[in-house]
Amino acid sequence: MDEEFTDDMMRLLMVIAAYTQEGHEENPIWVKELPLMAIIYQGIVKEVFRDYDYAPWSVAMLDGTREWLNISREGKDDLEDLLNLRMISILRVSTSQYGFVTAYRLTELGQQKVNEATESIRQEISSLIYHSCGGLYTVAMNGSDFSFRCDPCDFNEKVLIGDIEDIPYATKAYLPSFNFGWFGADKEKYSNKDREEE
Ligand SMILES: [Zn+2]
Repeated sequence: MDEEFTDDMMRLLMVIAAYTQEGHEENPIWVKELPLMAIIYQGIVKEVFRDYDYAPWSVAMLDGTREWLNISREGKDDLEDLLNLRMISILRVSTSQYGFVTAYRLTELGQQKVNEATESIRQEISSLIYHSCGGLYTVAMNGSDFSFRCDPCDFNEKVLIGDIEDIPYATKAYLPSFNFGWFGADKEKYSNKDREEE
């Protein structure tokens, strides 16, 4: 199957590259999926990702709670495509403290691909994830409150990924059938409690 390589896939690849570039073979850095989802969301809001949209999904957080977040299905699909193209690697770690964590980094092939990015795409990604001082934003998370931070500048910009307008209660019962395993495959948590509220 031929996978088409789109500009948005290049943008996504560049984001992952930027957040994992300091890693060495012995000590690779991986970008975790929740911060990555926040960056994708902000990229949609800032019209960097042209063909992505987002919708509210109930997401398992690192502390085991659930939050409704604006998640990009197209971004998720492109992560899968980049995996199929062997341009990124996936790491799934089960930790006692945080439950199930998924993270990504580039492969050698992905690294080569990133070097082909056009100047305009480079500039778009720079404006999205780097502060004006040249520092890469860190993604701070507190419940459903996300923000881009530049600590040396004491700069903080809210990322409204948790700003849900209409929580789709009506479709809640269908969520378990949606394969969202990369947020933690926890179908059980959609228990009868949800149904009783209806
Ligand atoms: Zn700064």
